[in-house]
Amino acid sequence: VIEQAREQVASLVGAAASDVVFAASATEANMLALSPAIETADDKTPRDRLLMSAIEHTSVRSGGRFARAAIDDIPVLGDGRVDLVALAEKLSEVAAAGIRRPLVSIMLANNETGVVQPVSEAARIVHEIGGLLHVDAVQGPGRIGVDMAVLGADLLTLSSHKLGGPKGVGALVRRRSDLHIADPLVRGGGQERGMRAGTEDVAGIAGFGAAAAEVHRNWEVERQHMAPLRDRLEAGLKATTPDAIVFGEGAERLPNTTLFAVPGMKAETAVIALDLAGIAVSSGAACSSGKVQSSHVLAAMGFSPALARGAVRVSLGRDSSDSDIEGFLNAWIKVSEALLKGTKGMAA
Ligand code: PLP
Repeated sequence: VIEQAREQVASLVGAAASDVVFAASATEANMLALSPAIETADDKTPRDRLLMSAIEHTSVRSGGRFARAAIDDIPVLGDGRVDLVALAEKLSEVAAAGIRRPLVSIMLANNETGVVQPVSEAARIVHEIGGLLHVDAVQGPGRIGVDMAVLGADLLTLSSHKLGGPKGVGALVRRRSDLHIADPLVRGGGQERGMRAGTEDVAGIAGFGAAAAEVHRNWEVERQHMAPLRDRLEAGLKATTPDAIVFGEGAERLPNTTLFAVPGMKAETAVIALDLAGIAVSSGAACSSGKVQSSHVLAAMGFSPALARGAVRVSLGRDSSDSDIEGFLNAWIKVSEALLKGTKGMAA
């Protein structure tokens, strides 16, 4: 059962089944990947630097097994895309300092804004100087195509529950079978070719495989279904509240994600008011909601903490329909009118 799921997950991203390592979450897969002890057949010297974009998920931002002093940030542009010029500059800077084996981590699409990152361009820059590229692709499958060879990713992280499978399963996929992580996070038995010890969650992995197979068959149809709904939602939002800002609007984005803010409106109040109207949205990133923290992603894009505190994320799924969008927009007319009444009064 596990080997069938391994085939299904591998096919989804164009990898070989033997290069898929199952883990208990994408968080764990990210931790496993971010290690100085990544070896190739002809290079067993430790990776000497980790470069990561400023908008990575916190599981990457924590830096894995790299010391703080060995980590550098790559900034993003105002539209939420990684700054490739800054990446190239940072790589030549570290190369000039004698650091020639960097590991670079750039996500495929951001979990707050949905902005799709220029991963294949980044891969070319990273490979030119002998670096390796890790891609947290958790947000991609089911929404955009994810092919490891096209992306140029050496290591790629996936999460089962983000593509319709059960929670509590993730995977780290290698592009080359000679890529070996010499210090696995979980050590003990020889499961997962020694890369992740411990008896596997067979049912969870089977569910992950089935979801991966489904997404592999249908993602293009789902994308074509969701993108026009998302566009309608954003057009309606702006018609009702013309000063609404859709973050990352100018960049290519996932077809299911809209992150927006209206100056003067707090996210928490909007989320509660929409919830009372029967609509579930989140303030900022769903996986970090509950923590009252302003978004490091919006800060990296240059937005003020005041505006970032108003960021509301609306996510669509393959079951979302025209009437859901209509329901949202009708609720938004009432909610925004009620919430902005106070601020307009204050301004006057
Ligand atoms: N990476 C990204 C981009 C995510 O959006 C998430 C979760 O939302 C994760 C990693 C963590 O995934 P998991 O919940 O499987 O640990």
